[in-house]
This record gives sequence, structure tokens and C-alpha cells, in this order.
Amino acid sequence: MEIPLVLDTYFTHLLAQKGQPLLIAGPCSAETEEQVLATAHGLKALGKVDLFRAGIWKPRTRPGSFEGMGSVALPWLQRVKAETGLPTTVEVATPRHVEEALRHEVDVLWIGARTTVNPFAVQELADALAGTKVPVMVKNPVNPDVALWAGALERMERAGITDLAAIHRGFSTFAPSKYRNAPTWMLPIELKTRFPQLPLICDPSHIGGRRDLLLPIAQKALDLDYDGLMIETHPDPDRALSDAEQQVTPQRLGEILGELNYRYRSS
Ligand code: PEP
Ligand code: MN
Repeated sequence: MEIPLVLDTYFTHLLAQKGQPLLIAGPCSAETEEQVLATAHGLKALGKVDLFRAGIWKPRTRPGSFEGMGSVALPWLQRVKAETGLPTTVEVATPRHVEEALRHEVDVLWIGARTTVNPFAVQELADALAGTKVPVMVKNPVNPDVALWAGALERMERAGITDLAAIHRGFSTFAPSKYRNAPTWMLPIELKTRFPQLPLICDPSHIGGRRDLLLPIAQKALDLDYDGLMIETHPDPDRALSDAEQQVTPQRLGEILGELNYRYRSS
């Protein structure tokens, strides 16, 4: 596949400006306007966050769980941008999500692990995105299948979306593991060998599933020269409506960042 060697994508610009891995942070789910704004202001105060994430439409494993606030939360993200200047990103899984997110000026979209796994869904998203200039981050599929991950990126590229990044969020496994999703670090390396210029972001929150694993997983990603980290943050993590065990306060995120050893990037 051709993800062309364009060095003026959204992600490469941010990386060049910062000279350090990007940081994407925000709650697993947008729950209330107050929660979203409190998180965003807390993150802004750290002075290190590049992109504010929040799930609006949540792909929950079982029905009856909190499935996200839906479109009512999109104006909250517009308020985040107006008040903090932070650009925003949400997960999209259907053409309607794409249309609504773009209408509300969401800056970057991401495709979740449960969508990347389905070529029909990915193709519908690619068709909906064709002709837009929006940057797109593609999470790995839930299962350890690099070809499927690459295929989703190729579908984007063929639709004219070349402003792409990949997110490693770990792979589901039957084997007992301390991780929520096994990191299997070789698989993203395999993706990078296929697309060397593609920015690669690590999501320690969904790999670890536990707060105490965020630091070692993030450190490993930095040691492997990842281009960014995505870490879930919530003002009151224990009361989060989704992924409570893995979220940290913005203040705790600041401490974790302080403990990370950032190598000097070679490129
Ligand atoms: C998320 O980012 O909150 C999420 C649902 O992630 P994933 O698609 O990696 O499970
Ligand atoms: Mn989550």
C-alpha cells in the first residue's frame, strides 16, 4: 500500500513542532459537560497535552452498560476547544457519527478496535470520509491480526485520507495475563515495517486496564520510539461510567509524565 511519504500531515507537523511524542488525553467517555470541562482544564494546566479525547458513542461489550451520551456531548467538545484551545478527537463507527462529529468541528477522528475488525464498517467510514481533510487514527483490531489493521489503513488511503496515524491498544487473548489486552509489541513493529512513515501511538490505558500499569507500558512505548501516547483521564476515576479501573486524574497523569524517561528523538 502507499501511505505516501508526505511529511506535512497533521501528526507530523505536531511532532515536528513538539520534538517529543504527542500526548492525547481525556475521559474514556464524555459523561456530563462539567466532567468534560473539568478534565480539559486539568489537562490544559499540565501544558503537555496536544489533543483532547472523549468517547461520545461507546462500543460496550454488553447491552445495558453506559453507551455514551451521543450527539448532545459534541457541543461540550466545542466548548473545550473554545475555552482551552485544545483540539478534540472522538471515536466514530458509522457514517452518521462522521457527519455529526465533523459538523461540530471535531478536529481528529479515531476508529475503535471493534470497528477496525470489520472491513464492511471500515469501508463505510472510508466512503463517508472521502473528500474530507480530517486526520484519522486507526486503532488495531481487537484480535492480533496485523493484516486487518493494515487493511483498514489502506481503505482510508484509497479513499484519499492520507493524514493517518495508528494506535496500538493491545490485543484480546484467552491466555491469563496481567494486561487487559496483551501488548504483543512485535505486532505494531510489524505494522511499522509495512508503513515506516506512519505515526504510531500507544494507548496504555486499554492495554493495561489498570492504573498501576500505565507508567511501565508508556515507558516501554517511549523506549520503542512511539510517536505518541493516548491516556484516559477523569476528574473522579472511581466513579467513571466506563473504564473506571484504568482512568487517572489529570494531576496523576502529570505525575506519570514526570516519571517517564523521554529519550532524545533521533528523527
Ligand atoms: C476507547 O478508546 O475508549 C475505546 C473504546 O477503545 P478501544 O476501541 O481500544 O477498545
Ligand atoms: Mn475506554
